[in-house]
Amino acid sequence: MAMNDGLETAPIFAAIDAGGTTFKCALIQLGSEQNDRKVLAGIRIPTTNPNETLSRCAAFFQEKAAQGLQALAMGIASFGPIDVDLQSPNYGMILDGPKLGWAATNLKTYFESALSVPVSIDTDVNGALLAEMEWGAAKGTKSAAYITIGTGIGAGLFANGALIGKPAHPEFGHIRLKRHKADRDFKGVCSIHGDCLEGLASATALTQRYGDPKSLSPEHIGWEIEAFYLAQACNILSLTLRPNKIILGGGLMLAPHLLDKVREQYANLINNYLGQSRADIESLIATPGLGDDAGLFGGAVLASDLHKAPKLMV
Ligand code: ZN
Repeated sequence: MAMNDGLETAPIFAAIDAGGTTFKCALIQLGSEQNDRKVLAGIRIPTTNPNETLSRCAAFFQEKAAQGLQALAMGIASFGPIDVDLQSPNYGMILDGPKLGWAATNLKTYFESALSVPVSIDTDVNGALLAEMEWGAAKGTKSAAYITIGTGIGAGLFANGALIGKPAHPEFGHIRLKRHKADRDFKGVCSIHGDCLEGLASATALTQRYGDPKSLSPEHIGWEIEAFYLAQACNILSLTLRPNKIILGGGLMLAPHLLDKVREQYANLINNYLGQSRADIESLIATPGLGDDAGLFGGAVLASDLHKAPKLMV
């Protein structure tokens, strides 16, 4: 964490990384220099039902405000599907999806009402991507992608100065892939498509085939199959978006040998079509620079952007 002089008077923002299992809340101070950022206080709250979870988050921020840590704005990087259309009357609302009991919960209106601060909201992966571009593995790049590989798969994409997919958001987890020759019979775990990317390569899919990924040796065929699918996803991104950086995050990427397997299979699949050297591919496909905190810092970026340009958030 960078801590520089001059942060004392810097603005404080409220950030939430709203995940399916945990809501991470923090007050983050951002200075004018690019690396000036400091977490002043934080809490992790288990995701249960909306009322309990959101009221505990609000109580944390209210308590800190009473102690003098008043946020100027809040940013939320949230699990989805979620309405992120600024023009929509339901902007900020969780839509019907796999997280039972959360459909029709509007995070934006809840916190605006509970805390009297303006709230900006986007997907968890868009938030993580913005933070990685500001401070992490994609710092200094003009176009980048962030894919999370956890219980599900999602992606945030940024090019030409903006997040891609607005006023909705990408659903990159549901693209179709070529099957690995040793993985022809597995039906896949996506309830909608079966064997889409998420259906074949999420942690859920790997677990259903082979058991707990943590128990698999690096040589297990499951990792080769996993890398084959993730490499196809990276190929598709490279050939369409042409990003400077593809960041692979999420729980499954904590397996230290997986990243190199993906790079290797990426090279096999693309067959030098873009003239990338081994070093180019190592630079292109990376893991998050902010680790587990990318979503939370993404919340801070969203809040800061809202504070700088409130007129965009009608
Ligand atoms: Zn699907």
